[in-house]
Amino acid sequence: MPFRIIEGDITRLTVDAIVNAANSSLLGGGGVDGAIHRAAGPRLLEECRTLNGCRTGEAKVTRGYDLPCKYVIHTVGPIWHGGGHQEEALLRSAYRHSLEAAKEKCCESVAFPLISAGVYGYPKDQALAVAVDTIRTFLVEHEMDVTLVIFSKDSFRLDSGLYAEISNYVEARVAEDLEINFCASISQESAPSEEMPAPKRRLFARKNRMPQANREVATMAMAAEEMCDRAIDSKDDDLALRLRNLDESFSQALLRMIDEKGMKDSECYKHANIDRKLFSKIRSDVNYRPSKQTVLAFAVALELNLAETEEFLRKAGYALSHSNKTDVIVEYFIDRGNYDIYTINEALFAFDQKLLGT
Ligand code: ADP
Repeated sequence: MPFRIIEGDITRLTVDAIVNAANSSLLGGGGVDGAIHRAAGPRLLEECRTLNGCRTGEAKVTRGYDLPCKYVIHTVGPIWHGGGHQEEALLRSAYRHSLEAAKEKCCESVAFPLISAGVYGYPKDQALAVAVDTIRTFLVEHEMDVTLVIFSKDSFRLDSGLYAEISNYVEARVAEDLEINFCASISQESAPSEEMPAPKRRLFARKNRMPQANREVATMAMAAEEMCDRAIDSKDDDLALRLRNLDESFSQALLRMIDEKGMKDSECYKHANIDRKLFSKIRSDVNYRPSKQTVLAFAVALELNLAETEEFLRKAGYALSHSNKTDVIVEYFIDRGNYDIYTINEALFAFDQKLLGT
């Protein structure tokens, strides 16, 4: 996966390089710096002594010694002084220089702690935003697997407004699903027609499982859905029709839609947080069976609406479910036309879900 966020101890990762949030002496300290020196053994400090320190926002490389990684990239983040002292620019610079150092050493994988977010006091939500944004910008131009390691979930802060909104959305969808299941035994009247597109068929079936009062609401929802379909159809008749062609494989549908959207392959797999190798595999294997996370990642990259996402998932044998938290969170973002896979993955991480991408 080109970019992922995980919870854990950076000293245990088997990657080409780990980044150390060091101080400018490079002679060891507390926090992640102390943990890295303890795990690497005394030879790391010996090499660090030869480096003559490091300025804030810059980076220097040593070997990894007893660590499972080849290199340690030592960088110095800024101390937080309230935000008006170039803190953000210096933090960006620390990430950028570390990534460039990793590239120079031909690293294919690198892991970062949340630089400056410990003793140096940088507000954690802002530190996270800077980390993700700098890494994202770098990955537009470079192929590398970058992992952001959160030592403890307690130190992870998704924007609190967004967190609350997603929580409410998830709760509402789960409650709706429970209600539908509860009403499942209630009579099923007329069957949905064969010509109905799948999402509408589902809505219809749900409606028939609901008590009378709720059915009226569902009837209105179906009418709205129809209007919405008409709007979609009027914008892109051809795409909507072809999406409903169930004979097409996932791989064929993906490649067709990339062409139709006028995207470059690289643009698509990067927006999907999918690495180039996996994309080549999908490209060359018409019967490729992707994971659900991969399909959702491409749905996001292609900016499909919910109906299109449902059809796309179906081609790979999956469906969106309101009892699945990942699905509901992805639905939340698609519903709002927010197709930023980094933001979606931050939210999935905050809710303990698997991330989208490879
Ligand atoms: P700084 O001085 O740059 O703030 P710290 O080491 O105090 O550096 O903290 C940076 C981040 O590293 C904090 O978010 C802290 O929770 C985290 N951290 C501490 N130990 C580890 C570890 N072993 N693995 C990953 N992250 C760690």
